[in-house]
Amino acid sequence: MKLDFKCIKCGNNNYFVETIVLPKKNSKLKLDIGTYYLKICSNCGYTEIYSAKILSNSKEKILNVEPQKTGNS
Ligand SMILES: [Zn+2]
Repeated sequence: MKLDFKCIKCGNNNYFVETIVLPKKNSKLKLDIGTYYLKICSNCGYTEIYSAKILSNSKEKILNVEPQKTGNS
């Protein structure tokens, strides 16, 4: 995973990523598992949490909206 990062607390741009899974309830109140990425500032420890599911969805969207040349010059 590659994400632009600048710590909003200390301005440091070095970080490491950890993956965690958390139990959650889905729409049918069944227990489900959600995967999340933690981005942890290597300087001060400030942590951001990203939903792996949404992150992968938005990646696909970005790919889909990239301009495609159809060769009709
Ligand atoms: Zn920091």
